[in-house]
Parts: sequence; structure tokens; C-alpha cells
Amino acid sequence: MQPTYSIVIPIYNEQENIPEMYRRLSLVMEDLDAECELILVDDGSRDRSLSLIREIHRQDSRVRYISFARNFGHQIAVTAGLNHALGQAVIVMDADLQDPPELILTMVEKWRQGNEVVYAQRIARKREGFLKKAFAYTFYRVLRRLADVDIPSDTGDFCLMDRRVVDILNAMPERNRYIRGLRAWVGFNQTSVLFERDPRYAGKEKYTFGKSLALALNGIVSLSPIPLRFATYLGIISAGMAMVMILIVIYWRLSNMASSLIGYTLITIALFFLGSVQLLCLGILGEYIGRMYEEIKARPLYTIKEIGGMEQRYQAAEVRKYGGEGEISIRPH
Ligand code: UDP
Ligand code: MG
Repeated sequence: MQPTYSIVIPIYNEQENIPEMYRRLSLVMEDLDAECELILVDDGSRDRSLSLIREIHRQDSRVRYISFARNFGHQIAVTAGLNHALGQAVIVMDADLQDPPELILTMVEKWRQGNEVVYAQRIARKREGFLKKAFAYTFYRVLRRLADVDIPSDTGDFCLMDRRVVDILNAMPERNRYIRGLRAWVGFNQTSVLFERDPRYAGKEKYTFGKSLALALNGIVSLSPIPLRFATYLGIISAGMAMVMILIVIYWRLSNMASSLIGYTLITIALFFLGSVQLLCLGILGEYIGRMYEEIKARPLYTIKEIGGMEQRYQAAEVRKYGGEGEISIRPH
């Protein structure tokens, strides 16, 4: 039976959250107006998460799961879930109950009204550190200015997507997946539901500051070529400054004015200035070239070691992943 709804949940070391998440979700699933499946993606957890997931799968036939052979990261886990979901509407949600499952009902309502993407937008961040809040605030605003697509601020991955949108995301070959950006890029009717982001139910946050920063960089680089243009601008600015310096030196020569700036100081400053401009530009170039390298290698996005309740779909997803009916080399047992 084809489910109407698929709920995709990436899970990395969430043993304390899984039972409560499942309890609240099953209440929501009762209230839904049609068949619903739950796809749990274990992102190589090292705690008891996988055995808890297996247990739930045994008891509830609506629950399916994929388990990665190692940790691949949040965005890839969500991607795998999207690859395997069959629902007409697919909901993506975190496992730590920061995204209240009850909001799904509101999302579904908006989907029924004809919106292809319904994303949850935070109105408050409860008990998150000041630094994280400030960082998130600035980042979303910078991204909006840089990217061609209109990415709504204060949205995460918590959303509902129509089958059409999911199919497009699945067809995107890129490895560097910044899902909330790609989701906005797709277009269609997009609308928001407002919610207050709860604190984590239990367990530690998986996104360290470093990981958040990497995700932010990925977002900018995957959506905008503008940083590359900074290099050009910096080049123009430093060339302009060099001109000014030449004029100053000529003026000093002609007016016989002795300046202590002539000589080492000037040279040292110019050297450092040019050196840093060049390194900065190299760095920006590197960000893009590194990602091109990732794309060109064209490795599979993830490796699966175990799959529960949707073995038939695995074949289809695999074919999609490698873009053709070529040989499938990695097969779970
Ligand atoms: N997660 C994952 N792989 C990772 C890190 C996190 O699948 O490498 C999952 C995690 O289990 C949770 C979700 O992604 O369900 C969001 O993680 P977290 O709560 O740490 O992020 P934040 O709430 O700070 O965005
Ligand atoms: Mg969280």
C-alpha cells in the first residue's frame, strides 16, 4: 500500500529521544487523514539508537529504517530518507523533539490547500546560547543577500514537501547538499507555519559550532557565486591603492619632500596587503574548487549497511543514486 505521508527522521546518537519521539509521533499519525509511514535514518549512531529503531520497526509495520555504514552527516541522512520515501507529501523532522511533531497537522492542512512546500519558521529560540542565536541571525541575512534564491530566514530543515518537489530534489546530482537552500531553489508555492523551537528533549546537540559554520559555508558556496566576485573586487581595490601610492611617491620626488614612509615601511605594508589579498582570493577559489572536486569524484552519497521494511525500494533508490541501471555494488543484507 502506497502511503500518502512519509515522515523522514535523521538520527545520530539519539537513544534518549527515540522512545518519546515515537510516542508523540504515533499520536500525530493517528490524527492524520491518510496512511502514513515513518522512515528513520540511522546516521551511523554509536549508541543504542539502532537497536531501538529495530525494536520499533518490529512492533509497528508503518516504521521503516535505513542504517548507514558510518556517520555521513545530517543533510545526507535527510537525503537518504527522501530517496526512499514514497509518500505524496514528505515531512522532514529532527529526532530531538526541537521540532514539535504536532505541527505536522498544520503543515498537512496547508499542503491540502495547494502549497508544495510548507516550511516551519521559528519565532523564538528557547534556551539556545547567545552566540548561536547571533550567528544564526547574521547568517540567514547574509545568505539572503548573496544567494539568488529567496531563502526565508529562521527556517531549518523541518518542512513538508510535495512529491513533485521531492522528485526534483532526488534528481539533483550534487553531493554538496544544503537542503533548505535547494528546497527554496525549486520554487512552486511555498509557505510557512510559525512555531517556537523547543529546547532539545534529551541528549547533547550534534551540531558543534564548527559543524554549524561548515554547514553555513556550504550553504553560501552551494547557492551563490558572489564570493568569487569578491576576489575581483579586492583585486581592483588593491590595484587602485597601488596607483595612489605611485602618485604619492612621484609627488614626493618632485617636491623634494623627504618622508619617513618611503622605504621599508611602505614596502612592508604593500607586501602584507598584497599577500593577504592574494591568500584570501586563493581561499575563496579553493572553496569552490574543493567542491568541484567532490562533485567530479561522483562517489555515492552514502553507504547503507542495513535496511528494514523497504528492501524493494532500495533497488529503485540505488538506480536513481547512480543515475542508470548500472551494476549495484553495495548491497545491504
Ligand atoms: N544528525 C544526524 N547526523 C549528524 C548530526 C545530527 O543525523 O551527523 C541528526 C540528529 O540526530 C538530529 C538532527 O540531525 O535528529 C539535528 O541535529 P541537532 O539537534 O544536533 O542539530 P540542531 O538542532 O542544532 O540543528
Ligand atoms: Mg536539535
